[in-house]
Amino acid sequence: MLGPPAEPQQRQIWDLSALLCTSLVLCVTGTSQVPVAKLKSPGLLQSQPEQDLPRQTQGIISEAESICSSYWVCSSKSLDDGESPENLAQKLPNLVELYLHSNNIVVVPEAIGSLVKLQFLDLSDNALEIVCPEIGRLRSLRHLRLANNQLKYLPAEVGDLRELQTLDISTNRLMTLPERLHMCLSLQYLTADRNHLWYVPRHLCQLPSLNELSMAGNRLAFLPLDLGRSRELQYVYVDNNIHLKGLPSYLYNKVIGCSGCGSPIQVSEVKLLSFSSGQLTVFLPAEVKSIGTETDHVLPLQELAMRTLYNTYYSFLKDLNFLTPISLPKSLLELLHCPLGHCHRCSQPMFTIVYPKLFPLRETPMAGLHQGRTTVSFVAYCCSTQCLQTFDLLS
Ligand SMILES: [Zn+2]
Repeated sequence: MLGPPAEPQQRQIWDLSALLCTSLVLCVTGTSQVPVAKLKSPGLLQSQPEQDLPRQTQGIISEAESICSSYWVCSSKSLDDGESPENLAQKLPNLVELYLHSNNIVVVPEAIGSLVKLQFLDLSDNALEIVCPEIGRLRSLRHLRLANNQLKYLPAEVGDLRELQTLDISTNRLMTLPERLHMCLSLQYLTADRNHLWYVPRHLCQLPSLNELSMAGNRLAFLPLDLGRSRELQYVYVDNNIHLKGLPSYLYNKVIGCSGCGSPIQVSEVKLLSFSSGQLTVFLPAEVKSIGTETDHVLPLQELAMRTLYNTYYSFLKDLNFLTPISLPKSLLELLHCPLGHCHRCSQPMFTIVYPKLFPLRETPMAGLHQGRTTVSFVAYCCSTQCLQTFDLLS
């Protein structure tokens, strides 16, 4: 006897994003023929028509449908029959994209490090408090989304992600950025809005591909001297950092967001190095040891020594690595490899002293763009009285 006609088979994706549980691991099996398994969109486990999917995933879903015969939802409680997260991760050697947003995930298990072909990992809108160092083993990862979690810290191993292009860590509780983030040499978009960050490491200015830096709604009081020196960096958003009063002059003519910055607090309220010119005051990075003026022609001895070393080893030999760590104290060697900044007038590296010059944004042609919503100044950091006297923002 024949049964009712079979339902036409509908192409579908696995949607597990609304399955709520703590310590959640979501795995979809894959084979070498299935590069992508997709977990997407809020709602219960359901099917979705193919046309809703991003173009790059179309065409492989039907294949995935037949091969993705099972999935696991594992928590520490439901883990049974000897199936450990490590084993599950080993079953997904070819997974390329993993979407686990909008769950209640608290911990990323160490087994994530086994997904060595993963290129896109979305863990945003969860309850993450920690990200394990094993994330640094995802050497193919290009896009990492960790926005809207409870993160206070990110492991230095994030710096091992040499293919990473996009990092979104906005709306967390971070006070510092990952220690080796400047080693993510492919990074193009860094979004760290709405955290508790109080400084931008100057090493980030060395990122060769960084195109957009967004750090709105943090606690920044100053920016690195070289921020914007890279031509690649074209978009810098630092809105609503109320203590931020100075923008490096490199940012002039770039796309910047700085509304809600430069509140009229008294300098005495904040114990930071500051520089005043007329009515204007800006804060400087703590690494700056002294501030030069137009009448101060003599450079400190350490500054002269560092500039000479730099010119000898870098300009002459083109390689600072000729210096062994024994030659200099570690802190000085590190400073030599990454100076405080480069003169905005002549590009000379600066190590201990800067000669700042302020240009209020409201007095520049860019004032119209910002409609008086900001009271910040552009700051030219120069290497000498001569550069200070001859620097002009508009030239
Ligand atoms: Zn100079």
